[in-house]
Amino acid sequence: MIKIGVLSLQGGVAEHLKLLEEIPGVTPLAVKKKEEFEGLDGLILPGGESTTIGKLLNIFELKEIIIKKANSGFPIWGTCAGMILLAKDIEEQEDSHLNLMDITVKRNAYGNQLDSFKTTEVIPKISDKKVPLTFIRAPFITNVGSEVETLLQLEGKIVAAEQDNLLVTSFHPELDQDLTVHQYFITKASKQNLELAN
Ligand code: GLN
Repeated sequence: MIKIGVLSLQGGVAEHLKLLEEIPGVTPLAVKKKEEFEGLDGLILPGGESTTIGKLLNIFELKEIIIKKANSGFPIWGTCAGMILLAKDIEEQEDSHLNLMDITVKRNAYGNQLDSFKTTEVIPKISDKKVPLTFIRAPFITNVGSEVETLLQLEGKIVAAEQDNLLVTSFHPELDQDLTVHQYFITKASKQNLELAN
């Protein structure tokens, strides 16, 4: 069994848990206390409101454990607000949150006109089939460091990327009935945990 935690402070927690439940061999867990991080094989930071989740991370004193785990190779996937939480830099904001991934993100980057939209694309590293992509007041990445691998660009904007154990997507795979990206993260987490154990 592989145990995947979903940070459950605010945002789209239930949707991730529901999708994870459909993947054989995975035990999904809602986590919000330090003790609950023990024994996890990976963590999902869901979409929601990054400023709110950032404040709650401080109140629940969870930043330290997440940063420590990330630095030791623990797999973390940030969707939408989760991407903003992982970023080292946020445009037009002085402070970042977890400051872990060498990316600059622009919040609400699609503006009011194109607030939310859906499309489908192939993300070659993840699957050769098109996957549904749902964007909701989404950020995109405006700059990446040399350690970062771009996984998908949409009209020239980076919307999925990876840096070792860290994965980020601007979109919300948990809102579509498609397990592809979750499956990819589970496989990534299993491999990385094997490496960590050896
Ligand atoms: N706009 C939100 C933020 O800046 C992110 C939106 C989302 O997670 N769907 O935090």
